[in-house]
Amino acid sequence: MADSKKHQNRCSFCGRSESEVGLLITGMDGYICDSCAMQAYEITQEALGAAKKAAGIPELDLQKLPKPVEIKAFLDQYVIGQDDAKRFLSVSVYNHYKRLLQKDSGDDVEIEKSNIIMVGSTGTGKTLLARTIAKLLHVPFTIVDATVLTEAGYVGEDIESILTRLLQVADYNVPLAERGIVFIDEIDKIARKGDNPSITRDVSGEGVQQGLLKLLEGSVVNVPPQGGRKHPDQKMIPVNTKNILFICGGAFDGIEKKIAQRLNTHVVGYNSVRNTATIDRTNMMQYIAPQDLKAFGLIPEIIGRLPVLTYLNPLDRTALRAILTEPKNSIIKQYVKLFEMDGVKLEFEDAVFEYVVDKAIEYKLGARGLRSIVETIMMDAMYEIPSEHQDRFVVTLDYAKRQLEKANVARLQNA
Ligand code: ADP
Repeated sequence: MADSKKHQNRCSFCGRSESEVGLLITGMDGYICDSCAMQAYEITQEALGAAKKAAGIPELDLQKLPKPVEIKAFLDQYVIGQDDAKRFLSVSVYNHYKRLLQKDSGDDVEIEKSNIIMVGSTGTGKTLLARTIAKLLHVPFTIVDATVLTEAGYVGEDIESILTRLLQVADYNVPLAERGIVFIDEIDKIARKGDNPSITRDVSGEGVQQGLLKLLEGSVVNVPPQGGRKHPDQKMIPVNTKNILFICGGAFDGIEKKIAQRLNTHVVGYNSVRNTATIDRTNMMQYIAPQDLKAFGLIPEIIGRLPVLTYLNPLDRTALRAILTEPKNSIIKQYVKLFEMDGVKLEFEDAVFEYVVDKAIEYKLGARGLRSIVETIMMDAMYEIPSEHQDRFVVTLDYAKRQLEKANVARLQNA
């Protein structure tokens, strides 16, 4: 008995015998048990991970990076119009790369970052621009929503959680995250409710702006790795925001009035007649200036940290019509593809597009509404066609009208 125990094979790492382990793997001159194999795996993973991180972050090569003109050309494939915003974005992203590449040249010239703020009514393409540019970036990128942010100690998320997502995208590689880009959507939702500093508590307004200021300015902040609220026993990750580029977007509902007020008060003077004559009242957004943001309720310090201010135009008929068919993954192209998968060639009469645009305008649905309208028109066909062995389906104006009337378009207004 003692003899047989002596001859049992043993794990060459922990020394346990075959009967003491779950599985013993035989090698050339030794054995390894399941738990030692598992442990070895973890050690190698950790070492490889550390090596990857020590190797640092991928080198950027300015020659190989897309130039502003190329970035804009890429955006043009997906986003209709909004030329100004596209140019500003392209330049800012390119300059961001340059700043990351700057070496200490000893001449005391340090390129500082130029965070951007984009103002435009809802549904004009702010998020779409951000998502599109993300596809060609060479640095980590994330989109966060400012509406969930509240001052520390209140229900909602701490400001630092903005960086959690960036860390996750960068696979918790801190140096990589520290050169990323964050798009903060709905920045207008943290504006304080008036031009005057509040005397009452403003949980989601000024306090949040003060917190955000720290991030925009560039400082080391402690980020909760899993996001949400900080809690005492969570291990925080320090992240330096000095090189993180922030792009903010917001609808700033009603800001046109503030712009108009400012322009009106300025048109006193000898050239006032000329000024009023050249103001395009249908698109006030193009005259936006930092003081309008202040009038809306952003604190001056935040505005100062968002030196690049750009705007998006309201979408007119022509733009809506183009959005239906022109972008690389336009709504119509998506439906054509859906039908193609059933072997059906989907076609539309041109008049259908005009009709869809008319309805989007009539019911004030904007670009977002285009999809719901087309979806409503196509619903029955998508239900029936796959079982109907047709190889072609033409959406005529009559058909579109019938489908939409049947569905009661007004319902879409609340969508
Ligand atoms: P917001 O400005 O509110 O962030 P979005 O970018 O989310 O608006 O736009 C909503 C949808 O409307 C997009 O997903 C896209 O389908 C469409 N859209 C809006 N503006 C444009 C545009 N300029 N070009 C192409 N599609 C657009």
